Amino acid sequence: MLTLRQLFLNNNAQTTNFPLLLEFERAGGVYMYDSEGKRYIDLISGIGVSNLGHGNPKVISAIKDQVDKYMHLMVYGEYVQTPQVRFAGKLISILPDNLQSVYFTNSGAEAVEGALKLAKRFTGRQQIVAFHNSYHGSTHGALSVMGNEDFKQAYRPLLPGVNFISLNNYDDLQLITDKTACVIIETVQGEAGIRVPDVAYMQALRNRCTETGTLLILDEIQAAFGRTGKLFAFEHFDIVPDILLLAKALGGGMPVGAFIASTAIMSALKENPILGHITTFGGHPVCCAAGLAALEVLLNEQLVEKVAAKETLIRQHLIHPAIKEIRGKGLMLALEFESFDLNKKIIDTCIANGVITDWFLHCSNAMRLAPPLIITNEEIISACRVITEAIETNTSF
Ligand code: PLP
Repeated sequence: MLTLRQLFLNNNAQTTNFPLLLEFERAGGVYMYDSEGKRYIDLISGIGVSNLGHGNPKVISAIKDQVDKYMHLMVYGEYVQTPQVRFAGKLISILPDNLQSVYFTNSGAEAVEGALKLAKRFTGRQQIVAFHNSYHGSTHGALSVMGNEDFKQAYRPLLPGVNFISLNNYDDLQLITDKTACVIIETVQGEAGIRVPDVAYMQALRNRCTETGTLLILDEIQAAFGRTGKLFAFEHFDIVPDILLLAKALGGGMPVGAFIASTAIMSALKENPILGHITTFGGHPVCCAAGLAALEVLLNEQLVEKVAAKETLIRQHLIHPAIKEIRGKGLMLALEFESFDLNKKIIDTCIANGVITDWFLHCSNAMRLAPPLIITNEEIISACRVITEAIETNTSF
């Protein structure tokens, strides 16, 4: 009989020739357990999803309650569905005044698609400005604004009229003009290997968008919900977007995304033609119930307030001459090594020793550190010890 691993390789689509092939049977808190009962600490949170760790009881109970009431009823936006209404209301209550209208999607990439369409419709303009080394998802629109040619060239033609600019380059801001529908930027760049823009630059970008009537889209799909030490990453920069993109941790482990704008901007989707963005499963009631419960846990347990101290602890316990730099904010960190080769060896040793981490799509010589926000000080210290030992094993310092 074929093993589960063989069946996975035979029957499930593969996106590389070198999948990790770890077989997890269950997960709880910051730990995941494989089929042989081995425990792994999760330092990547399923790429920024499991902010509350795995299996939070309040999230699970909200899911069960909603499943008992109803699951899918109708394509998005027609029926009044309690979990969607309550979740949107809670999100609006913690967001700036101009972000009052929530469009729920299935995923981050779909939120990106919706936001790009909305910006074009609202401004009547066609050009888009995006950033080198950005990542916004894998669908055609999202690929069009991805700042890495290697991942997209095979899929051309993509959206026309996209110009790329560099983070913190003030001269480039001149490429934003009264022909630009929107600028899309990750508030903190994730797959670039965690790049935090300068505060003054983000404010200049905001001003340039306002000056030219261009909508500023902040992609916080990876950075929101406390990951950087603020509830929303834009709070670090004292700016507010015209459109905010959320996903990943938004659903508390369930798949849901959102693009959020003012009612005036969002209204552009209602006319000429009607139904400007259609989604069947976007804002699924079970996902919204889970997301609302997760947000309440995040706020009630004041998890965001504790993130900065955890960052400091990580920085104190990861000091080694082979580490070239620790970049990032809060629990969204990149540990940079000299080469991909070294990084990969260290990551493999970490995984073998029960610490799950990985590298970044556009920065293969850096290791990702994005644990659930609930990670304790003891867990941080013990995980840092495993990483340091893995560095020692693979270097001759
Ligand atoms: N935007 C950012 C910043 C991301 O990190 C990601 C996913 O990694 C996406 C968009 C796409 O989200 P999804 O994978 O849910 O489509």
